[in-house]
Amino acid sequence: MAVISERFDSLGAGGAPAKLGLMGGTFDPIHNGHLRVAEEMREALDLDAVLFIPTGAPVFKRDQNVTDPEVRFANVRAAVAGNPHFDVSRIEIDREGDTFTVDTLRQLREHYPENVEFYFIVGSDTAATVGKWKGREEIAQLAHLAVAVGRPGSADADALREAVMAAGPFQLHLVRVSVLEISSTDIRERLAQGKSIRYFVPESIGKNLAGYPVGAHSGRPECAASGKPESEDPLSKAFFNARKAELEKRVSPKRFQHSLGVSDTCVQLAKEYGLDVKKARLAGLLHDWDKGYDDDQARARVRELHMEDEIDPYIVEQMPGVLHGITAARALGQELPGIPADILQAISRHTTAAPDMSPLDMALYIADAIEPNRQFGRIDELRAAVGRETLEELYFQTYEYWVFLLFERRKPLHPDTIAIWNAYTARHPRKGKRGNGDGSVSGKKHKGKK
Ligand code: ATP
Ligand code: MG
Repeated sequence: MAVISERFDSLGAGGAPAKLGLMGGTFDPIHNGHLRVAEEMREALDLDAVLFIPTGAPVFKRDQNVTDPEVRFANVRAAVAGNPHFDVSRIEIDREGDTFTVDTLRQLREHYPENVEFYFIVGSDTAATVGKWKGREEIAQLAHLAVAVGRPGSADADALREAVMAAGPFQLHLVRVSVLEISSTDIRERLAQGKSIRYFVPESIGKNLAGYPVGAHSGRPECAASGKPESEDPLSKAFFNARKAELEKRVSPKRFQHSLGVSDTCVQLAKEYGLDVKKARLAGLLHDWDKGYDDDQARARVRELHMEDEIDPYIVEQMPGVLHGITAARALGQELPGIPADILQAISRHTTAAPDMSPLDMALYIADAIEPNRQFGRIDELRAAVGRETLEELYFQTYEYWVFLLFERRKPLHPDTIAIWNAYTARHPRKGKRGNGDGSVSGKKHKGKK
């Protein structure tokens, strides 16, 4: 198990000097401004690697609603995946309580050998708050401070240098970076207004943002619906029943039964794999919210929700059958603010999956395939694997089976299929076993053969 990050846990282990950049942030969501700053810092300061560290409960944003840490983390992970010098760390997300940089630096110092130097990277707006940082004297001892200047609205460099040096004995590097006038706040506002955010965020995460910013909640799930009447708490039974009655009017009787089956199965999976049962119940119920539309209606739904810029036109034209997950997530987020973002994400991904599925995403994806009303092919094999295989392995077997069916039926593959397939084959190679040549995955028939 990685302690700090999958890619850089053993940085500096050989004893040679190494420089590690640390890019902390709320990343709600991550955008190209963050990525570009990290890249330019890496070049300017000759860093060996840059670690992105999404905050758990950000102290300076206590009064704001911050999106679920797992959702923010998954997007950072997807955004940095293509750059071998970048990685993401869970250390702040996994730590209980308020997030303080000084605690993070101490933890990193304990992990890495002395020959690894830390460069704490911040934008000038963050640097300007240095006088308020907890443990700033110690931070100055533990890491260099690399400040990206040139950000619009920032204090000028001299004033900034003065403010930083007054706050502690920092080893300060002011690095002029290309100004990208992008902020997460602006992205959330654009999404709320139904505007395009294309080219502000990497293509790989654009479509993940269906649940933003509505449905966002404080970093602590238990606060999500505090102070609201029972029926408005999206995880309450009353809310579930109200949506159930609406769903019955939106989809065919068969589809309605399927949705109830998926909800029950998703709950079973949640219990089996230790996930939030109420979230699983609601995600299952709502996943086919937009399934009552035919192809042209599904396309019209994309326009109605102003999602044309976020979805590949090829998909809208050629594969309208996969649109219902993405549009349902957006529509539900807008119509019923308060549904947690991780539920919306699972709904958004249930048709085509993604390379970085969260546990809830995986549970919904599996439940959709194996709920009791589904009767085809080798579904029983997957049902039998519940509890025997890990959630991720079960999800991948389900995905594998699905892709096989698409091949068999000569159906087009979603363009993301290769990326998803390769992400999982890299993590879960089939050791010593081969497929049975018929899409089954038990490995029984050919056992022993090499
Ligand atoms: P928000 O608007 O929600 O505050 P943000 O875009 O400022 O989001 P954060 O996650 O708060 O993003 O920022 C993480 C770090 O990245 C901070 O140190 C911030 O100063 C820096 N940063 C963010 N956007 C830019 C940008 N466009 N250029 C330079 N630095 C940036
Ligand atoms: Mg900020």
